[in-house]
Amino acid sequence: MTDGREGKLTPTGMTEKCGVVGISLAGREVSRPLYYAMYALQHRGQESAGIVTHDGFQQHSHVEMGLVGEAFDEDDLEALAGSAGIGHTRYPTSGSVDKDCAQPFSVSFKSGALGLSHNGNLVNADKVRCDLAEKGHAFTSDGDTEVIAHDLARNLLESDLVRAVKQTMNRIHGSYSLTIIYDDTVIGVRDPGGNRPLCIGELHDGYVIASESAAIDALDGQLVRDVRPGELVVLSDDGDGFDSYQLTNRETSAHCFFEYVYFARPDSRIDERLVYEARRDLGGRLWHDHGIDTDVVLPVPDSGRAFASGYAEAAANDGVDIEFTEGLMKNRYVGRTFIMPSQDERERAVRLKLNPIRDVIEGRTLTVIDDSIVRGTTSTQLVRLLRDFGAEEVHIRIGAPPITAPCFLGIDMANREELIAAGRSVEEIRDEVGADSLRYLSPGAVAEVVGRSEDDLCMGCVTGEYPYDIHGEEKDREVSRPDFGG
Ligand code: AMP
Repeated sequence: MTDGREGKLTPTGMTEKCGVVGISLAGREVSRPLYYAMYALQHRGQESAGIVTHDGFQQHSHVEMGLVGEAFDEDDLEALAGSAGIGHTRYPTSGSVDKDCAQPFSVSFKSGALGLSHNGNLVNADKVRCDLAEKGHAFTSDGDTEVIAHDLARNLLESDLVRAVKQTMNRIHGSYSLTIIYDDTVIGVRDPGGNRPLCIGELHDGYVIASESAAIDALDGQLVRDVRPGELVVLSDDGDGFDSYQLTNRETSAHCFFEYVYFARPDSRIDERLVYEARRDLGGRLWHDHGIDTDVVLPVPDSGRAFASGYAEAAANDGVDIEFTEGLMKNRYVGRTFIMPSQDERERAVRLKLNPIRDVIEGRTLTVIDDSIVRGTTSTQLVRLLRDFGAEEVHIRIGAPPITAPCFLGIDMANREELIAAGRSVEEIRDEVGADSLRYLSPGAVAEVVGRSEDDLCMGCVTGEYPYDIHGEEKDREVSRPDFGG
């Protein structure tokens, strides 16, 4: 099944790569704290934003297309009454730009009202949807979040909350970090592999569950800990604490390595690792494994910055003094090149987005550092541009392994045909982007730096081997394990 603009192939038709939050307070209105937390999670989704609250009697919901700041005004926040609620920011997926897919998804049924925010992607949503449709459930979207909501609502007709969540977890497969409001009770659930992040924070008058700790910081809260893979966390209605239920136990976890490399905010702490520090250490490892002595090290802003500073510092510690400088200026008003619908537009956007500073570049040898290469648009354009600006040599160092396969679990990459590293050796990629040299980090190096074994990380987009049972034709295609450039 394809899902639109970029023809991305996914097992369930739609992918959800988002920010989720849930807050329960002791009496204070929750809509504004939710709004602030969502602002902190804006990088996880810019397509739509939504809040669902409950005031003890009834549910209130406001879901709108656009950025958090555009989706709500004073009156909207005022109308979202209650001291318990959840919020959602949705990633701009290709194709699915309509309000039916915006979240939180709400459903009212005999035993109460549910609201659900989801980050991740189920790999068996079609099957569960068909089963539920046969039992009379009517669906209004083709998203997997609605499938979870209906399944949970059905279980809640016969079971208490904890049992109902466990039954749903046994039924759905794939990646999910959820915040859910059931009447005025807020809960958080993380899938058995803990693929997407989710953490718990304490506020002075309540508790928060959020995709990233940056959202807790935005509320002046304290990070308590990550929600564990397979854990259900139930916030108490009076904002006084939370209960924990370990509902599944998997031997290995499946944390997405790309959260550390690109997706999460650098100031977030994910599974006990500060993302900024992880990126600097990945940069240091790049120097250690693939360092090259050039006149200048420059980051591709913004995502390459922490890597490049770690790289330059590690070089200096080895007595190699390479000037670390910002030779590329970013126009912050140009959107992500990645989501431009055509290759032409993507190439133009790179030029608009990144402008080299001639004085820094002309006549010098450069090491350019970025977090990842996906389609190769950025690196190809950049090498050309830097040479036009007089660079003598351009060496590229990448803080992740080559991306050779799509992500089925919540990050919008590209389909395999568009990935520059799919079916190419590193030397062939180097040739394609026109650099003097190109090196990537190996999966083993990334795992070591992140502080986990490779078995506990999801590196499906690198190896084509996913920690969840992916269905569909993609699974059957051969993915050759790439080399990592020396
Ligand atoms: P590309 O130009 O297609 O090779 O994309 C690589 C650039 O896009 C890098 O600078 C990354 O920081 C950024 N990037 C990597 N993954 C994503 C993603 N899933 N969505 C948007 N941008 C991304």
